[in-house]
Amino acid sequence: MYTNGIVADHAAIMKFITFFMSQAYNWASLSKDPSTKVGAVAVQGDQIVCSGWNGFPRGVNDDPVLLNNREEKYPRIIHAEQNVITNAAREGIRLRDAVLICTHHPCPTCSGLIIQAGFRSIIFDAKTFTDDFRMRLKTAIAEENFAKAQIPVVGIDYKPD
Ligand SMILES: [Zn+2]
Repeated sequence: MYTNGIVADHAAIMKFITFFMSQAYNWASLSKDPSTKVGAVAVQGDQIVCSGWNGFPRGVNDDPVLLNNREEKYPRIIHAEQNVITNAAREGIRLRDAVLICTHHPCPTCSGLIIQAGFRSIIFDAKTFTDDFRMRLKTAIAEENFAKAQIPVVGIDYKPD
């Protein structure tokens, strides 16, 4: 690992990131999606400034019949990253230069919104980056977007305390 000697306490940084990831998982636990529960938090400095999880829009009933039918679910569901961004818009929270901590790698649509919102980097849980998830969400397009936009994406080996 490279260090210039200024940021010497790498363990402390990882402790922060692990804590933020645990919070992302707490939000994910609120998701009613029976197949994939995703959570995300936006971090400015050392503070979580906004959060979200995947689900139907506010006020739209979490009907299990719709949630268990992918053709019905996909057009209705708001991704965790989309909820972070729209929750921030709703509350007037600035996301430029924030770090997005997410349980999963973003999809192509979310990657565009993340770039446009001004996030500086993305940290996700590498163990959720399965072949099935990558194919289903076409994450290769998102990876390409982040690379072209020069936004670092880091998959960590998250281990809950
Ligand atoms: Zn998405």
